[in-house]
Amino acid sequence: DPTTLSILDHVRPEVRALPTSGIVEVFDYGRNRQGLIPLWVGEGDLSTPGFICDAAAAALAAGETFYTYQAGIPDLRSAIAGYMEAHYGRPFDGGHFGPERFFATVGGMHALQIAVRLVAGTGDEVLVPTPAWPNFGGALVAAGAAPVECPMRFEGEADHGRWRIAVEDLEAALTPRTRALIVNSPSNPTGWTATHGELEGLLAFARANGLWIVADEIYGRFFHGPGPRAPSFHDVMRADDRVLFAQTFSKNWAMTGWRIGWLEAPPELGPAIENLVQYSTSGVPVATQRAAVAAIAGGEDLIRTQVERARANRDLLAAALRGTGRLRCALPDGAFYLFCGFDGVTDSRALALRLVDEAGVGVAPGSAFGAIGEGFVRLCYARRTEDVVEVGRRIAAWLAR
Ligand code: PLP
Repeated sequence: DPTTLSILDHVRPEVRALPTSGIVEVFDYGRNRQGLIPLWVGEGDLSTPGFICDAAAAALAAGETFYTYQAGIPDLRSAIAGYMEAHYGRPFDGGHFGPERFFATVGGMHALQIAVRLVAGTGDEVLVPTPAWPNFGGALVAAGAAPVECPMRFEGEADHGRWRIAVEDLEAALTPRTRALIVNSPSNPTGWTATHGELEGLLAFARANGLWIVADEIYGRFFHGPGPRAPSFHDVMRADDRVLFAQTFSKNWAMTGWRIGWLEAPPELGPAIENLVQYSTSGVPVATQRAAVAAIAGGEDLIRTQVERARANRDLLAAALRGTGRLRCALPDGAFYLFCGFDGVTDSRALALRLVDEAGVGVAPGSAFGAIGEGFVRLCYARRTEDVVEVGRRIAAWLAR
């Protein structure tokens, strides 16, 4: 009977089915608490440096206020190609990073959205190793596709273990509808960072099964292992491999609020990507793109400072929590999150809510990152070291009570 339907019932069921993030629930619960130290959201506390803001202001003052290229302004695409060549070397058996591989997007999220739309739609399945950032599943559901959770394995000692994607687990999850595999290394939320050998194994699995890889390597510069950056699919792939990369200016250059990133894809996909941009955002504001060019040109000191601070914070936080004798975690090799549980704690959501009320600490519940994350919480330590040390102290004191 149409008269008993609410207006919501006229919205498409896929949209109504979109999950609400479990991180948002805790955030809404605790956002106004006095004295709370918030480690729940995945962003640093540094504002964008002046030289980046100045470039945007100069573009606006010069009248750059019009529609522009769907793929991004040529200066930005060249700057990204130069950046990739400088930090990722020559990929694909000595090939080149040409500007035609790079497409400006409205943040890393939009790059993922386009990547998903290129390879998966209604009825398709995409493998998502978990714990995973919930937006992967959200982007897939929004595109009509189904995320298939593939729990990673936690191995080794409780307080310094390691997460691992077992290829046999991926094989067991395959169906005739599987189209792609998402690989987020370094990972939000665990900090897991694939080794060169693991990337080779995942690529071989994708090749053998005709799958795309959607590689989210946005935290690649936030790396604490040997070498200047995390291992990348660029190190192991050939030019004809089906790999799409999501990237962003948000973290490396402290630009979360600007909403700019890029998609890296085989150049043959250019026309399809430009269409998807045309019909979604119709491009990234030019002033924002000018800011991004400036960020690449002058941002290496900023990246170095942030990465050094993240490493120090990681070690201080892990040491404080290990001291409780109840810690369960893998020391992150990359990104800026500690994903941890404590003996005797099984309900992530309850733990996160209690830490707000009883410890004055804001954390993200591990259950938001997939069923395997139940019992864990995620702490983002890309903040002032004093705050991170104080969080370690507060949680340890709370556990001792
Ligand atoms: N990918 C991962 C793993 C992330 O953690 C984030 C942001 O937190 C993004 C992509 C997207 O970043 P943005 O849309 O802010 O550029």
